[in-house]
Amino acid sequence: MKTINDIDFKGKKAIIRVDFNVPLDENFKVTDPTRIEAAKPTIVKILADGGAVILMSHLGRPKGVEEKYSLKHILKTISSTISVEVKFASNCVGEIAEKASSELKMGEVLLLENLRFHKEEEAGDETFSKQLASLGDIYVNDAFGTAHRAHASTTIVANYFPKNKCFGSLLAQEIISLKKILEEGEKPVLAILGGSKVSSKITIIENILDKVDHLIIGGGMSFTFIKALGGKIGDSICEDDKQELALEILTKAKEKGVQVHIPVDVIAADDFNNNANTKVCNINEIPDGWQGLDAGPKSRELFDKIVKQSKTILWNGPVGVFEMENFAGGTIALGNSIASATKNGAFSLVGGGDSVAAVKQFGFEDKVSYVSTGGGAMLESLEGKVLPGIEAILK
Ligand code: AMP
Repeated sequence: MKTINDIDFKGKKAIIRVDFNVPLDENFKVTDPTRIEAAKPTIVKILADGGAVILMSHLGRPKGVEEKYSLKHILKTISSTISVEVKFASNCVGEIAEKASSELKMGEVLLLENLRFHKEEEAGDETFSKQLASLGDIYVNDAFGTAHRAHASTTIVANYFPKNKCFGSLLAQEIISLKKILEEGEKPVLAILGGSKVSSKITIIENILDKVDHLIIGGGMSFTFIKALGGKIGDSICEDDKQELALEILTKAKEKGVQVHIPVDVIAADDFNNNANTKVCNINEIPDGWQGLDAGPKSRELFDKIVKQSKTILWNGPVGVFEMENFAGGTIALGNSIASATKNGAFSLVGGGDSVAAVKQFGFEDKVSYVSTGGGAMLESLEGKVLPGIEAILK
């Protein structure tokens, strides 16, 4: 795996695909610069080598050129994050971009305008990719968030750098973290899958059954399993048409020697509402009119025990409706268990959508080993897919 550490960038212009798709407020101010900060190590290394940096990214989902999605809004935040004045090219290809690139001196940084102002970006257009490629000497991909897309800047452009291409440090870290879970995980390996639907996680479950020793199925997903096993789940969320699949998963897990843990009790509510009345119920004895919205005390204890005996932990999906304060307790307890296991030497990776939001919201970000920066890319990796953006660098 070739990374920026294997290349001396002295005298070279590196064109880097970053993921600067950051949230902006109504005054076009960056409200969360995490993604910009995440690209800093790659930019700093290239500049320190004596190279120049050309940054390319998308922002939002513009339909053609739309001022509100211009990357010029984030120029200042990038400059202050990397402590270097960043130049701007108001187009990512064509004369403007070519002139800006040719005038760029070593030690300088140039930001190109939003890639998605051109429909050719998402179409993976060859000519557009070639135009982008002409701007730099070396291609660096540091955008995990878009690595599952075969777009011009994430994948096709790499073809024009048969030898001069590599992973940025962020993308390399993502790949290494995933490898630590899916290929090289120290046993016992545990995957915790939560969230609302079995259907959205089924391919992940099938793929990871070969990789893990323990599987915790939590959150809304667990009710489909409980109902399939003959339990009474009241009004809890359930995918009736997936019950058979749930039983098949349990059989497969048994055949593969994977121990599956499903919550034993829940905090049930008489409404999907933070102020609803609540009571603790066994998960298979939830009365009609009540729905399980969080892991109960015995389930939290069970999760804690399994987490603390694991050496490798993957967490995807909350185990309750954590967006409502009164049903966040199970997810917070689980975060605490994972933090404690991590402190004691376990490797923990949190990735894919809502669990990342939960980890950030409850302050566990620095207490787990790694928090992935890619939602869809993470989910597709867990499904066992080779992401086109990663493959393009490897081949
Ligand atoms: P997903 O996008 O499939 O990972 O699901 C995340 C969502 O699952 C979050 O918005 C949670 O509120 C929701 N969720 C977790 N547990 C439950 C539950 N017991 N009932 C309903 N929704 C849940």
